[in-house]
Amino acid sequence: MKDRVKIFMFSDALGYEIAQRYKFMMDEFPVRLPVRTQFGYSSTCVPTILTGEPPTKHGHFSFFYRPKDAKSPFTFFRFLHPFLHPSVVFDNHRIRHRVSLWLARHRNYTGYFNLYRVPYARLPFFDYCEKQDIFAPHGLAPVKNLRDVLTESGVPFHISNWHLNDDQNIAAAKKLLEEERTEFFFVYTAGLDSMLHFHVHEPEVVAKHLDAFSAKVRDLLKTARAHFRKVDFCIFSDHGMTPLKGETDIKSMLEALPLKFGQDYIAAYDSTMLRVWFLNPDARAPVMDAVTGAPGHWLSPEEKSALHVDFADASYGDEIFLLDPGIQLVPSDMGAKPIPGMHGFSPDDRDSTACILSVNELAEHPREIADFFRLMKQGAFELKNAGA
Ligand SMILES: [Zn+2]
Repeated sequence: MKDRVKIFMFSDALGYEIAQRYKFMMDEFPVRLPVRTQFGYSSTCVPTILTGEPPTKHGHFSFFYRPKDAKSPFTFFRFLHPFLHPSVVFDNHRIRHRVSLWLARHRNYTGYFNLYRVPYARLPFFDYCEKQDIFAPHGLAPVKNLRDVLTESGVPFHISNWHLNDDQNIAAAKKLLEEERTEFFFVYTAGLDSMLHFHVHEPEVVAKHLDAFSAKVRDLLKTARAHFRKVDFCIFSDHGMTPLKGETDIKSMLEALPLKFGQDYIAAYDSTMLRVWFLNPDARAPVMDAVTGAPGHWLSPEEKSALHVDFADASYGDEIFLLDPGIQLVPSDMGAKPIPGMHGFSPDDRDSTACILSVNELAEHPREIADFFRLMKQGAFELKNAGA
């Protein structure tokens, strides 16, 4: 039996609303707090948790961005796309998936790389922010990530392999707990996110999934208590899941204008927002007017700053039109159809709120998800001092 262990479990999309409504593990995790999410998708929330820094600092927001020098790693698609006929390829996600895998292997991309539905002809206008594994050493350099900080601390730690599924990650952590050599755990789980995107509106399905998940967490907690005298265990999330309330076809609104993509403007159609770059200054007013009637609003400079997405080089868009909570942009570069649940809305939306659940009282209460990093860093510091 060893002295102490700290387990931080990341549960993608375990929103505060869902944790409370379904009374998820209320008995074992009595400390339960809502935590403000970071505006964006997991592609920005996870780097925020891994560094404690805002997107403007770690540089990750939505997957596709416009590089400063306008140099794209996808320029060859300019020559290739006439041979990739839209009717065959654009709607065939299996082929796109293979193209993504081939590119990742060919270019040594170690991160989560997915071309989604961005038309091949438009790829040469973009770069992709998660080409490298953000969990790896220096994965978010020049900013230090969790692995860098833990390595420096000298505390024996374990960070899950995000390529594996929840069962595999929980089993790997359990085995290490039994070996009693690891004191700090970051256990990655993303199964809830995948389920909620498609079943958030079906209470029985959600309850069943949460029940099965809690049985595994309980088992992990039991194992930790069998091998360590003092066990700190918390579960936290990056964002919640907002049920579908409607959809809007912003893409058609822009494409109906007498303007040309790539000459007058460039647009990225995310699931919950439109991001636009103006190549021709005269395109700004018609583009902005064209979508004003849609359920959402253009983010003001003050809002962008408050949401930490006021990138100085406008690499993620000159302007961002954010949809109202629950409204999905359909079709988007991410999907052809709306899905029952989505995240990436305003952090003020109740369903978007993340959470932290803890077995023990927390020395400090995280207010936004970036604070999870400070909590983990503090945890490593305590372990180091206890061991010194
Ligand atoms: Zn998701």
